[in-house]
Amino acid sequence: MFYFCAKYFIEFMQQQYDVVILGGGLAGLTLSLQLKKHKPDISILILERRETEAPLAAHKVGESTVELASHYLREVLGLKEYLEEHELPKHGLRFFFRSNNKEDITSRVELGPRLRLPVPSHQLDRGTLENYMAKLTIQKGTEHILGAKVSGVNFNTDSLHEVFYVKDGVEQVVKCRWVADASGRASILKRKLQFQKPMEHHINTAWWRLKGVIDIDEWTDNKDWKNKLEPHLRYLSTVHFLDKGYWLWVIPLGTKNTSIGIVADPDIHPFETYNTYEKAVEWMKVNEPLAYKMLEPLGKGEGLMDFRILKHFAHHTQRIYSAERWAVTGESGAFLDPFYSPGSDFISLNNTWLSDLILRDLAGEDISLRAQVYEQAHLAWVDSFLPIYQEKYKLMGSAQIMVMKIFWDWAVYWSIPCVLFVNDAFTDLKLLRELFATQNGLGKKFAELHKRMQDFFLEWLPYENRIFENKYIDPFDLKLLQEFQSAISVEWENKDLLKQVAVNLEKLEQMAAAIFRLVSSEVKGTPPDMKVNPYTITLNGEVDTTSEKAIKPSAFIQKDVETMWFYEKESVVNSQ
Ligand SMILES: Cc1cc2nc3c(=O)[nH]c(=O)nc-3n(C[C@H](O)[C@H](O)[C@H](O)COP(=O)(O)OP(=O)(O)OC[C@H]3O[C@@H](n4cnc5c(N)ncnc54)[C@H](O)[C@@H]3O)c2cc1C
Repeated sequence: MFYFCAKYFIEFMQQQYDVVILGGGLAGLTLSLQLKKHKPDISILILERRETEAPLAAHKVGESTVELASHYLREVLGLKEYLEEHELPKHGLRFFFRSNNKEDITSRVELGPRLRLPVPSHQLDRGTLENYMAKLTIQKGTEHILGAKVSGVNFNTDSLHEVFYVKDGVEQVVKCRWVADASGRASILKRKLQFQKPMEHHINTAWWRLKGVIDIDEWTDNKDWKNKLEPHLRYLSTVHFLDKGYWLWVIPLGTKNTSIGIVADPDIHPFETYNTYEKAVEWMKVNEPLAYKMLEPLGKGEGLMDFRILKHFAHHTQRIYSAERWAVTGESGAFLDPFYSPGSDFISLNNTWLSDLILRDLAGEDISLRAQVYEQAHLAWVDSFLPIYQEKYKLMGSAQIMVMKIFWDWAVYWSIPCVLFVNDAFTDLKLLRELFATQNGLGKKFAELHKRMQDFFLEWLPYENRIFENKYIDPFDLKLLQEFQSAISVEWENKDLLKQVAVNLEKLEQMAAAIFRLVSSEVKGTPPDMKVNPYTITLNGEVDTTSEKAIKPSAFIQKDVETMWFYEKESVVNSQ
């Protein structure tokens, strides 16, 4: 008995960490690497429920990365060499819209980059990546226990917290200064402390992995169509097939396998129509007949690696960072929608805020104010992303609206969030205050404009029912988008960063006004060159066209926006 107690006591005493991370998925592993990078002697324990290494390909979703997360993985965490050697380079997001003959891929309006992209991003095999990051973080001194299921957490304001976990049937306890919940949808702390928040965005999903490489270039013999891009570039894109109420993804993985998934609005595509593999295949037969023809034979026998479903998977949270030394990161907090692949962007930002708090606290700083500001900024960030998705699955059957929306959403994403992230603005309290806390702060204006445009896209829907075909549109045909995307990695001096955000916001205002002019002139017959106050844009009410806030068309941006207009129209710019 004495021996047992003494042994337990010794083990107990040794088991103290600066940080215990609950869950070793993408969020937990990247957090550990970020902390180790800044403070190599920090003591970290990762408790991961899974018993063994992650399987290749058939592991998790979250395979497509976009610019912000790519910057985080490559530059902030230093994984550039690993990514270039072991994961696939990605050729942007690619969209195919509804046509009258979906069996012919060449008839569908296609949106995606033609030429290789200057800003890198990757397609991730989540199994390969998580196994690599687990090894890397262990090499850096992190303790990482597999088969460790977290069973409870005791918070102590004045002393160390306690984390309980079960390993090999035995409950163990460790003490720590910080608890970071990275348990994904298990959301250990959210459930324990009851800080769930209702989420008004409802979508469902089913996904599966198929053995082998699927290159959509092989889905037709049309050489002209194939030759629009270098061979294999379409293959490297995250491919989306869209129609009203849904999108179907095809993502290539570095392990030479392919990820396929359906995401749909239940009001338009009830979950029961695709929530088993057999039903998902039947669903494709009806909605995506070419994908059905090409994919169904590959899913026979061993070709089908896995099949998973998630119902109503968007979720929100009331809490993220606490000055009492706990926080949530990744999917254990909020998750909105995988359209545009923003999941790992949210993790990048989440971990950047969280690691900053942990490192400051360990250095003896009082983090109360920062924890509050970061939490408010993070929650506001989630809320400002929500309108991008909410109700928007209704728009997915309209190529014209979706092209405008996708280009708008990209312009916004590249010109503000990416620029702020790359320039470390999110942990700069002074900048955050100027952007978001002042009455006329640029951040507030930006959020207002963005919300107005999202509402406007919905207002446009009743007027827009034409099916367009045989068109190719490249985001980089628009000089503005080219400019925004290639400027992501520019590092600005602090004093110039706000000026740059102001310049970008002005361009966004021009872009919003230009989109509005085209649409309003088509559906309401308003003058195509009218002045518009972008903050009053609507099809269902009064628009300010006369005050000093109403802006004239900028020839450069109006012309750019006309590039994505499919209707025959004399150019406003040429007619000026
Ligand atoms: C349909 C769909 C498609 C998506 N596509 C993309 C995409 O293309 N790009 C993108 O960036 N994001 C995408 N996402 C989001 C992405 O999947 C998530 O952002 C990401 O996987 C979340 O990582 P995480 O580490 O928070 O959670 P997870 O990866 O789920 O990791 C949580 C870990 O915690 C462990 N765990 C759980 N409970 C316990 C416990 N009690 N004790 C110990 N360990 C525990 C689990 O085993 C797991 O390993 C998609 C999401 C969905 C639903």
